[in-house]
Amino acid sequence: MQQRQLRTKTRSHDHNTKFNVLLLEPDANYALSLKQIIEDNLPVGVTIVRNVEVARRLLEKDPAQFFISITSVLNLDSSAFEKIDLLGEFNLPVIAIVHHYEDEMRDQLIKRHVIDYVVKDNTFDRSYICDLISRVHKNFDIKVLIVDDSKVSRFIIARELSLQKFQVKHASNGLEALAKLKANADIKLVLVDNQMPNMDGYTFTAQARELYHKDELIIIGISGSADPRMAVKFLKAGANDFIAKPFNYEMLLCRITQNLDMLDAINLAKELSNTDFLSGLHNRRYFFEQGNKLLNTHTQLSNKAHESSSGEPLTVMMMDIDFFKKINDKYGHDVGDEVIKNFSDLLKQHFADDLVARIGGEEFAVVSQSRLHASNFDAINAFRLAVANQNIQVKEYLFRYTCSIGVTSIIGKNLDEMVVNADKHLYKAKHSGRNQVSGILGES
Ligand code: GH3
Ligand code: MG
Ligand code: MG
Repeated sequence: MQQRQLRTKTRSHDHNTKFNVLLLEPDANYALSLKQIIEDNLPVGVTIVRNVEVARRLLEKDPAQFFISITSVLNLDSSAFEKIDLLGEFNLPVIAIVHHYEDEMRDQLIKRHVIDYVVKDNTFDRSYICDLISRVHKNFDIKVLIVDDSKVSRFIIARELSLQKFQVKHASNGLEALAKLKANADIKLVLVDNQMPNMDGYTFTAQARELYHKDELIIIGISGSADPRMAVKFLKAGANDFIAKPFNYEMLLCRITQNLDMLDAINLAKELSNTDFLSGLHNRRYFFEQGNKLLNTHTQLSNKAHESSSGEPLTVMMMDIDFFKKINDKYGHDVGDEVIKNFSDLLKQHFADDLVARIGGEEFAVVSQSRLHASNFDAINAFRLAVANQNIQVKEYLFRYTCSIGVTSIIGKNLDEMVVNADKHLYKAKHSGRNQVSGILGES
C-alpha cells in the first residue's frame, strides 16, 4: 500500500479581515443583549444598526467590514424583504430571527441569502446564533473540493458553499480531483458526483482513501442513481457519507457541518491523547510513537547513504529536575507544579524544532535532528545554565532549581535503546553532583 500522505492542518486565518457582525435590529434591548452575548462568547465584534438606510450607508462605505449579518423577520412583508435583499445585495450571509416556524416562510428565506433561521425567544435562540456565527467563522479556513462533470451542478453547489464562507475549488472528474488534492494539502472536504468521464466518483473515493485517512479528509459521495446499492458502494470505498440526488441544500449543509464537527471532535481527542495536561508538552505515548518514526526515517536515510557521514544526526536527551522532592516538601505540591510548567516552557523555547515531551513526573525527553546537539554539548549546556541561572518566583517564594541531563547520539536499533543509554548518562550526571550534562556523541 502506498504511504498515506500527510494533510496539513490550517487553523489560523491567513487573511486580515476583521470579524464583524452586522446586527440590523430595531428592538434596542434585544439588540444590546444579543450583542453582549455574542461578544462575550466569540472573538468577533457586533455593530448594531436600527434601520435599512443606515445599514446601506455603512455597507456602501466598506462592504468587506462585515462577514455575517443578523436581522429579525417577524412577518414576511415588504419591510422584511427589503432588509434581507439589502444584505444579499452586499453578499452578506444572513441569520434571520423569526417569530415562529412556518414552512412557507422557511422556503422564502432559504431562497434568499438567509443561511439559517432562529425562532425568537426560544430558550436556546442566543446560543444557537452564537453556534451559527462560530461555524461560519470557522468555514473561512475550510477548503472544499466539488467534483462534478456538470459545470452547472458545480456552480450551484459552489454558490451555496460560498455563502457559508467556505473556500471552494472545482474539479470535473476523479483524476483532476486527485491532482487537486495533491496540490492543495489543506483541502478538508470533497463532494463528489459518481458518473464522470476519465474517473468516476466511486473509483476516486477508493484511490483518495489509499492516500488520506477518513479523519484527515472527508469525502461525501453524491449520486442521482436510483439504485440504493450506490450508497453502499461509496461508503465501502471509504466515503464518510453519501447524499442522493436530488437533495435540498439545507440538508447538504447539515451533513457537511455534521461531518466537520465530527472531524473536529476526533482531532481534539487525538490532541488530548498526545498531550500532557499540566505542562502542555507531548506525553510519553506520543514521544515514543513519533520518536520511533524519526529514528526509522533516520536509519533508512543512512542506509541509502551507505553509512557515509552525510546522514542527518539524531540525538536523544533525558532530563530530570534535581531534588524536586525537596521543592515539593519545602514549598508545597502546587509550587512544584509551577516549576514543572516553568521547566516545560524553557524546554519549548530552547528546543523549538525538536520533539519534546514530559515522560514522567519531573522527567523530560528530547529527540533532536539538529547538528547543533550532535557534535558538542554547548547548546545543551546553555539550556542547563538557563534553568540554573533564573530566579523563579512562585507565590511568596523566590528560589532557584537545577536539572541533570543525559545525552546520546549513538544510533540504537529502536528509540527505547537510545533512551536507556541516555538514561545511564543521566544517572552519571546525578551521581557526579547533579546540575550537569553527561553523555556520548556520535561521529557525525
Ligand atoms: P533527584 O535529584 O535524584 O532527581 O531527586 P528528586 O527529588 O528530583 O527525585 P525523586 O524521584 O526522589 O522525586 C521526584 C518527586 O516528584 C516525587 C514526586 O512526588 C514528585 N512529582 C511527580 N510528579 C509530580 C507532579 O506532577 N507535580 C508535583 N508537584 N510533584 C510531582
Ligand atoms: Mg528529579
Ligand atoms: Mg525523577
